[in-house]
Formats: sequence, C-alpha cells, structure tokens
Amino acid sequence: MTETTVSADATLPGGAAPLLELRRVKAAYDRITVLHGVDLTVAAGQVVALLGPNGAGKTTTLNVAAGAHRPTAGALLLGGRDTTGAHARDLARSGVCLIPEGRGIFPNLSVRDNLRMMTFTGRDRAQIEEIAYTRFPVLGHRARQAAGTLSGGQQQMLALARGLATDPAVLLLDELSMGLAPLVVAELYEHVAELARQGVAVLVVEQFAAAVLKIADHAAVLVRGRVQWQGHPDSSLHAELSSYYLGSAA
Ligand code: ATP
Repeated sequence: MTETTVSADATLPGGAAPLLELRRVKAAYDRITVLHGVDLTVAAGQVVALLGPNGAGKTTTLNVAAGAHRPTAGALLLGGRDTTGAHARDLARSGVCLIPEGRGIFPNLSVRDNLRMMTFTGRDRAQIEEIAYTRFPVLGHRARQAAGTLSGGQQQMLALARGLATDPAVLLLDELSMGLAPLVVAELYEHVAELARQGVAVLVVEQFAAAVLKIADHAAVLVRGRVQWQGHPDSSLHAELSSYYLGSAA
C-alpha cells in the first residue's frame, strides 16, 4: 500500500474544493508533540474517516479542526480561509460542529431541555425540536425523558440532533460507535451519510473501522501522529489496518 499525502492546495478527487483543510498540522501537550505534520482535507458532501490505534492523535486532530486545540505549526483552513488560532466559539459560528466522544449531552436534563439549550444558536425551540424529531422520531416520543436514561444509540441521536441545531457546514464526530451494537451504529451512520448527501463535510474519527468505512468516501490512517496512509477505503484497507494497529503497539 502506498503512502500518500494531499498536497497543500490540491483539490479532491472529483474536483471538489476542500471545505476543511489541515495543512502540515503539528500539535503538542506541554512540550510533547503528538501530531507531526498532519495533512487532511474534507469537501462539502464528503465523509472522511480518520482511523488509527489508541493514542494516535485522532481526537487531537478533531480538536484542532474545531479550534479547541491550537496547533504549534501548520494551518487550519475553512472554506479556503486561514482560521489557524481562531477560537472554538468563532469556528462554531462559522459552521464547525464537534460532537465529542462521550456524546456531550446532559444526562439529568430531558431530551427537550437538551435541545432547548441549543437556542443560543439563534434558532427557536420549536424549530430545533422540529428538525430533531423529524430526523429522529424516537426523540420526539421521549421528549420528556431524562437523556441519561435513553439507550446509547438514542443518546448519540440526541447528540447529533443538538449538533444539527447549529446547521453545521462541517461536522466532526468522535467515536460515534463507542459502546453501541453494530446495528445501532449502522443506523447512526446512515443518518451521517444522509447529512453528507445534503452537503455537510463530515470528518469521523473511529478506532474500529468497519461501520464508518461503509459510508466513507475517503479514509486516512493516523499512527503516532502521522498520516501513514490515505485514499479510497477499498477492501484492501480492512486487511492492512490491523498491521498499522499492531505495528503501533509499543
Ligand atoms: P484514543 O483512541 O485512545 O482516544 P487518539 O488517537 O484519539 O486516541 P489522542 O487522544 O489525540 O489520540 O492522544 C494523542 C496523544 O496525546 C496520546 O499520547 C495521549 O496520551 C496524548 N494526550 C491526549 N490528551 C492529552 C492531554 N490532555 N494531556 C497530555 N497528553 C494528552
């Protein structure tokens, strides 16, 4: 398998211009560098899967893309505009939505109140609920239920619904499948694929790849802070992944 990087100003296969772009991004915690020059692009309507073993730097990459972690070198571009160093709040206003691992919902609040908190985005409560319940009818049936008592899949739907209230142009998803049954994961990824069809640029982090690769247009494998491979997620990638994962164990 070949090692490839996307050149800084390349367009994507099919000619689409990248909406989200990380150029040679480095990032560190204290003085320990954990990303060593990551190049990654996501176009509108595209699902890109960012895969890799524990500790590879996947979450850090998402946090850089969301403005939640400032890179020590390289650049973050949104719609071709240099947004390196921009505050997460400003990137959120520009349409970047991060759904963190662990879902980022408030377990003691009802489904409705979790959604109501998103009115800061400028949409009113009724609009937000309508969008949420149209896409995920089960949330409508459970509007008064405490979010923490929903099933794991329903909690993830609520997290997605809260994200959709911001009308995102770029959706960043961290370990959507965590702790969920394969059928539930497949259903969630169908929703994600539908969002991409509507033009959202989606970057998905997953450690275990199978579900996301069914809907991904492009995959990148991160190992120890470096993109070791990226390309179309064809069947050979499944076979090669384990070697990247095993090779990283040290
Ligand atoms: P996982 O799948 O285990 O969540 P990951 O690929 O998402 O891993 P990151 O969480 O980005 O990887 O972590 C990359 C490296 O940075 C790891 O070595 C991790 O220990 C380190 N790291 C992550 N967060 C912090 C932090 N807040 N402080 C110090 N080091 C951190």
